[in-house]
Amino acid sequence: MLGKYPVFPPTDSEFEDPPKLDKYDVVVIGGGGGGYHGAFELSKGGLKVLMIDDKGNLGGNCLYEGCIPSKSVYMTIYLMEKIRGGILNSVGNKDINAVRVLWENAIDHKDNVQYIRYLQHIREIKEHENVDFVKGVAEVIDEHRVRVRAVDGSWSKDIEARQLLIATGSAPIRIPVPGADLAIGSQELFGYKTSYRKIPSDVVIIGGGYIGVEVASVLSSMGIKATIVEMLPRILAGWDNEIVSKIEEKLRSKGVEVLTNSKVVGIRSEGGRRLLSLRGQMAVGVTWLVLRL
Ligand SMILES: Cc1cc2nc3c(=O)[nH]c(=O)nc-3n(C[C@H](O)[C@H](O)[C@H](O)COP(=O)(O)OP(=O)(O)OC[C@H]3O[C@@H](n4cnc5c(N)ncnc54)[C@H](O)[C@@H]3O)c2cc1C
Repeated sequence: MLGKYPVFPPTDSEFEDPPKLDKYDVVVIGGGGGGYHGAFELSKGGLKVLMIDDKGNLGGNCLYEGCIPSKSVYMTIYLMEKIRGGILNSVGNKDINAVRVLWENAIDHKDNVQYIRYLQHIREIKEHENVDFVKGVAEVIDEHRVRVRAVDGSWSKDIEARQLLIATGSAPIRIPVPGADLAIGSQELFGYKTSYRKIPSDVVIIGGGYIGVEVASVLSSMGIKATIVEMLPRILAGWDNEIVSKIEEKLRSKGVEVLTNSKVVGIRSEGGRRLLSLRGQMAVGVTWLVLRL
């Protein structure tokens, strides 16, 4: 478990202690959006709840490396686009394209947003007096018992509960191809205080789901050449075709290249660049890529 999160979010020292009681009405495993809303609602109904999360704070994947940081970066860039295309354009500024957001500034901003939200969560936990929150790793022993241990292994305690609520979320996968470790994922791109502060001039995104499309859109707005590689015939599988066509049109107008029916079968590193094998062909002109998230 150690090393799963290179930087832990801020927590409160009292959350690092073992659970206060031996028995609870409900034990909630996972403090993400799925878990903490449940824990708070159950406590409002008068139940005594123990919530356990290995990050030591709430928000799960969404706050650590997902929705919140990606939208913070997106909003910074979106506002800059508005300023460029609107205000600067209307006053006849000749150097509109010289006005850009620096990636590292967008990252600083999103780290601040995440930090503030983590502090708010600490207050929220304390406002729910029927909820005990613990930073720890939970293991289900049986349907009424959970073993909780400190993330650093310094203590362990077995807890009894009438009900368990398991809300442990999911983790990004590495595609099963040679060289997959050469790619990065959402943690490296948006993780709390772990994000890359330099971004290359061209990026390949493996996977044209909504996250891949969002990342391509954000990076292209920063002047980065983004290519989406999708093995299915269309990006955004399962979405309405008319909407997908509009989004594809918009992506292309921003300079994003979309390669569909293209399966990545291998990745290798050459001269500081990453090369992708797509169905036996070598894709050139690629420095870096983002794993299917
Ligand atoms: C780049 C990106 C952008 C996204 N954008 C959006 C968006 O705009 N809108 C949207 O709706 N969704 C978005 N998502 C998806 C969203 O982040 C997830 O769907 C959501 O976080 C899932 O919530 P959850 O509570 O189910 O799980 P999680 O958020 O994963 O929470 C589970 C928690 O449980 C902890 N845990 C796991 N096992 C244990 C254990 N044994 N003991 C203790 N703790 C444990 C985990 O560390 C985690 O903190 C995005 C994701 C990414 C990566």
